Amino acid sequence: MTLKGLFSRALDILWPKLCIFCRRVPEGRGDLCARCAAELPLIAPDRKLVSVEFTEGCACALRYEGGVRDAVHRFKYGGAWHYARHFSALMAANIAARGLEFDAVTFVPITGSRRAECGYNQAEELARGICRRLDLPPPERLLSKVRETRQQAGLTAAARRGNVLGAFRLCRGANVAGLRILLVDDVLTTGATLGECARMLLYGGAEKVICATLARSDGTVAKSAGEKANKDG
Ligand SMILES: [Zn+2]
Repeated sequence: MTLKGLFSRALDILWPKLCIFCRRVPEGRGDLCARCAAELPLIAPDRKLVSVEFTEGCACALRYEGGVRDAVHRFKYGGAWHYARHFSALMAANIAARGLEFDAVTFVPITGSRRAECGYNQAEELARGICRRLDLPPPERLLSKVRETRQQAGLTAAARRGNVLGAFRLCRGANVAGLRILLVDDVLTTGATLGECARMLLYGGAEKVICATLARSDGTVAKSAGEKANKDG
């Protein structure tokens, strides 16, 4: 074993990495235990994209429940930014299996003060990981968040839409004309935030927007693209 390998092994023994979903020490190495790996609530990539206003739909990798919910919470609010590596691998696998086609990758922005508070933007970390996994150029910062919004949890779908209306702007100098854009966020609930970001990208001349999130919340009121298509006739 090399000196570097020995050092890394010693670190693993002194501070074992915990499973990112159940926080137990996994057998062997890695950051996911065998039980969680077997029981992950994966959303099969042959499922239809979830309908989100102003977009082609959203590809979600996991259902937002149990250990996933806890892990996402630590990722968003508990400083566990290193979860992005594993989370983005799950998203990249889903995106690749679906054969989604796009020209650029971007992410839902947070305000400067929120960024200063937690040190990173979780959506940006996911987008970065996806690009690395799919061997693409790094994500582009195309949107900025110009005002803080209330927490979306607990708001009705209409209130959520009002809450985010006008909260995002295209970055100065961002050229999205004619581009097919993959827009990344952590959790899809009603799709109000993704829809509002997509609206701004389309306003800037983007050809279309496809969304990808790590998880899809059960409380969603968004229908699948198929259901919408049926209803429309
Ligand atoms: Zn586990």
